[in-house]
This record gives sequence, C-alpha cells and structure tokens, in this order.
Amino acid sequence: TTHFDAVPLAPPDVIFHLTASYKADTHAQKVNVGVGAYRDDNGHPWVLPVVRKAEQLIVNNHALDHEYLPIEGLASFTSAASRLILGKDSPALNENRAIAVQTISGTGAVRLGADFLARFRGTQTKVLLSNPTWANHKAIFNDAGFKDVADYAYYHPATRGLDLEGMLRDLRAAPEGSIVVLHACAHNPTGVDPTPAQWNTIADVMIAKKHFAFFDCAYQGFASGDLDRDATAVRYFATRTELFVAQSFAKNFGLYNERTGALTVVTKSPETAQAVKSQLAKLSRAAISNPPAFGARIVSTVLNDAALYAEWVENLKTMSGRIQLMRTKLFDALQKLGTPGSWQHILDQIGMFTFTGLNAAQSQAMGTKFHIYMTNNGRISMAGLTSSNVEYFAKSLDWIVR
Ligand code: PMP
Repeated sequence: TTHFDAVPLAPPDVIFHLTASYKADTHAQKVNVGVGAYRDDNGHPWVLPVVRKAEQLIVNNHALDHEYLPIEGLASFTSAASRLILGKDSPALNENRAIAVQTISGTGAVRLGADFLARFRGTQTKVLLSNPTWANHKAIFNDAGFKDVADYAYYHPATRGLDLEGMLRDLRAAPEGSIVVLHACAHNPTGVDPTPAQWNTIADVMIAKKHFAFFDCAYQGFASGDLDRDATAVRYFATRTELFVAQSFAKNFGLYNERTGALTVVTKSPETAQAVKSQLAKLSRAAISNPPAFGARIVSTVLNDAALYAEWVENLKTMSGRIQLMRTKLFDALQKLGTPGSWQHILDQIGMFTFTGLNAAQSQAMGTKFHIYMTNNGRISMAGLTSSNVEYFAKSLDWIVR
C-alpha cells in the first residue's frame, strides 16, 4: 500500500488536451479553434506592441526590484483596473466604496471571490451559473465548497440567442440571496450577450430577489473593441447594487501566462469596502501569499499613461477587428457554398467565440476527418481562423452539416 491508494486518475482538461492533440498532429491544414487565445492572421500568438514597449520600460527601470508585492497586490495596478471596469466617473470609486485586490488572472479572481463568499455567506448558499458557461466556473465553486451549484437558463438553441424569459424565471425561482455569476461581456462559450435593456430587466429581478451579482469579465475591450461599451452591464449594476467583478488581463493585454487579474468589489460604504478588502487579503495570503509583479507592472504602465493607453486601444481594435473580419469571411464562405441552415449567428455573436450549433458528433468529426480541433459543444474560437484557413474551415463545416 501507499499513501496514494485512494487516488484515481483524473480525466485530462478538455481544452488543454485539445491543444496537445493539435500540436501532435502533423497534417498541413490542421486548425486549432479550441483554445480561446488570440492569433494574428498568420495563426501566431501576438504580443501587443504596446506591451513590448511597457516591457522595455520596466526592464530598463533599475529602481524596480524583485521584492514581494503587498498581499493585496500592486496598488497602481489594482486602482487602474477598478477604474477601467467601473469607469472614470464611477461614484463607487469616488466615494471610496469600491476596492480591488490583485489575483492570479481571471481564474484566481473568480476563485478568491468564491472563497470569500463561501466563508462569509456560507457554502449552503445557492450558486447559479449560466447554461452553458465557462467549464471552470462549476469546478471553482465546487472546489470552494459550495453544495448547491446550479444552472440558470441562458442560451436558446432554437434562436441561437438569449433565453431571457427562462433566465428571469430561474432567477425568480432561486432562493433569495443566491449568488449569480454573470458574464460581463462576450459570453463564453455562446457569444450571446444581453442588450442594455435586457440587463436592466435582469438587474430588476436580481435586486428584487436580493441576489448577489458576481460578474466575470475576461474580455473587456475584446468584445466590441470599445472598453466602455464592454463595461456597460457592470457599470449599470454598480449604480444599483453591490457586486464582485473578476477581471482578467489575459485576453485584452495578451498576457495569458503572466496571470494578471483583479477582483474589484463595489460595496455601500467605505468601512465595508475596507473590511472586505482586509478579508480578501487574508484569504489571498493563505492561498498565494502575494501575487506576481511583472504582468501587473505592464498593465499599470499602460493604464496610467495617456499615450500608451491610446496605443493599447488601437491594439485592442486590431484584435477585435480581425475577429470581426473572420466572422464576415466565414459567413460569406458558407453563403457561397450554400451550406444548409442559417448562419446569421456567426455575425450576431460577440467576442472570441461562436457557438456554431454543431452537435458533439459533428464537432468531433471536424477533428477526425478534417484535423480541425474544437470542443464538443460546437464552440469555435474565431481567433483560430485566418485568411488562409477560413475557406478550408468553411468547406469542412459544409461537408459535416450536409
Ligand atoms: N472567465 C472566463 C469566462 C474566461 O473565458 C476565462 C478565460 N478562458 C477566464 C475567466 C479566466 O482566464 P484567465 O485565468 O486566463 O484570466
């Protein structure tokens, strides 16, 4: 016997496994539309030019060292992160009712928020996740100890749009004070976001039911190319209620592996804000002790400098613009092929992903037959498409659905 007798083999993570299979594939026309990471039109990862500049400034700044950051992170980063999401005129920030702590990217922000809620709201509290959602949401809330992690209706397969009625029904049916995870913009995996009017209705129900809004914001600036527009839902909710917002700088700064994120919290008073911050720091201390500096320095350098900020906005437009172009190209290619079915949703859905509508068997067949790697739920990352593979992708899709 060993100390590990009770340990079964865990299944591999779907997305990371897909990337490994893609890398092992030697087929010339292979395509990876599994992972949600930006690629340029040659299919290569893209280091944002503004990030290169900030890196140089940091490396050449000999006043910087490798000492530990404070537990709550780099202050110039967390304050800029909160401003970015809550807006330059944010009443919550101006009244010192909002705080932020630095986290291990968006995942760490969701986890820290979940750990906090488990401790201070209790693990019996119901947690509601959109159906479907980013697969890690369920794992995070389960691992944080929540006993009742359930779904609310979100995606409507028939319209390939939002099931607002179903969503409101489920929010109303949940016990008062439930925790509701909302995607701030560019919903993963569906690419379907509520309109501003729909957000208002959702907020009405959330507030009437005293639910807690836990926003996950992994794509600010990436969805529409407009940082303010992508923050609309969070800013609207912040005028009406307390909330959490988990911020990732993986996509909008291309800082995937630097693990740069923040958890911003809006409360009703400066005293509450400080109490919450102190408890988040305490939880973070026991989990990671203190966060990594490099990514936070890059983001802080850019967000706190007007010229670099303007350059970043242009870089964001390059990324969101290319993704938008791929939507048009894929749609046009399918039209030209006369592919059965309506493909309007490719144009309507927002952000990194399109929820194609392919079922599990079809999604898998894209891999086995055409060396196109995508998840079984039919989701494709638009950033995996380029001018040189979009035709091949469209022809393959056409073959699969006929
Ligand atoms: N939330 C959602 C909805 C996401 O899509 C992602 C990225 N896949 C994240 C959070 C967090 O990613 P990261 O930890 O790399 O910032």
